[in-house]
Amino acid sequence: MSLMHSDSPASADKIPYRSAFSVVYAEEAALAHPRAQRILAGLPDAEVIRCRDYREIFNRPHQEPALQKKAQALILAVSDRARVYPGAPVCQDFGNDRFYYTSDVMNCVFDCEYCYLQGMYPSGHIVVFVNTEDTFAELDTILSDGPAYVCISYDTDLLALEPKLGLVADWIAFASERPTLTLELRTKSASCAVLRSLPVSDRVILALTLSPDPVIRAMEHRTPPLSARLALASGALDLGWKVRLCFDPMIAVHNAVAVYDKMFDEVAAALPMERIHDASVGLFRISREYLKEMRSRRPCAVTYYPYELTDGVYHYPTEIGEPLVELALRRLGAMLPRDRIFLWSV
Ligand code: SF4
Repeated sequence: MSLMHSDSPASADKIPYRSAFSVVYAEEAALAHPRAQRILAGLPDAEVIRCRDYREIFNRPHQEPALQKKAQALILAVSDRARVYPGAPVCQDFGNDRFYYTSDVMNCVFDCEYCYLQGMYPSGHIVVFVNTEDTFAELDTILSDGPAYVCISYDTDLLALEPKLGLVADWIAFASERPTLTLELRTKSASCAVLRSLPVSDRVILALTLSPDPVIRAMEHRTPPLSARLALASGALDLGWKVRLCFDPMIAVHNAVAVYDKMFDEVAAALPMERIHDASVGLFRISREYLKEMRSRRPCAVTYYPYELTDGVYHYPTEIGEPLVELALRRLGAMLPRDRIFLWSV
């Protein structure tokens, strides 16, 4: 795919990129699916290019994901298997024994420099497996053995994509009829209008990732500022959502303790913390394999930090990470009962 119009001016900072999803690749099998038809109906100006297999586009060699993110294509595909997985060891399980995540969408509209997806995927484009019903059927099998806690927005940001994909609404409808299912919808988006368009379900926890503005500006590219995320949290509480605050990953930027301390001031001032469902705290960590890929694809301060390695996971040295964790537990401990604060540690 050409990322840029051929008549682009020479100046690199003036290059007009095509808008996101102005190109849609679609497997033949996906095109016939009602969910694909619905998505395409919302993209009337998109150029639709048929392909045999999404891997022809997504997995081809020598891609530049960071560049592709400036003009993301959408790839519609049909998965030949249900995409439900047991939670990974580096993920917070919030005390749930039967913890799963789903991956019907691969990749994200945001562009965080520390994002592990850069270590997983060779492409910056977004794949949507439209046969969500197969994932639902697999979850029904899992639920027949007992309650399950399922994160549906790990390898993407489904709420940010909701105006284009409508998948959150599908998930809420599914969860609403399954009393033993709890969903976590994790997001950095901040659209109150999108949230208002969705039904509220007590089966769904809205998990908002909060970061200090210096971290957002430096490395969470295209994401909303802290004030907007806090406004969404406040609006979600008013609408009746269960709201989880995720201070994860915390990043050891310059003056990190002071930077995060100020952020907790802003959180405390903006939110009625007694109404917050729970909170999670975690330092940045990444598997050895993903960091290796990330370093070659995106050499930057966060990927080339001198981490320590424990059991295949890179993490901050204790003297760097511990003060940040202590700060988070002290500040949150003053606002929430300790049993509603979940800490991920190596
Ligand atoms: S919002 Fe999350 S999934 Fe999206 S780029 Fe950032 S870290 Fe990755």
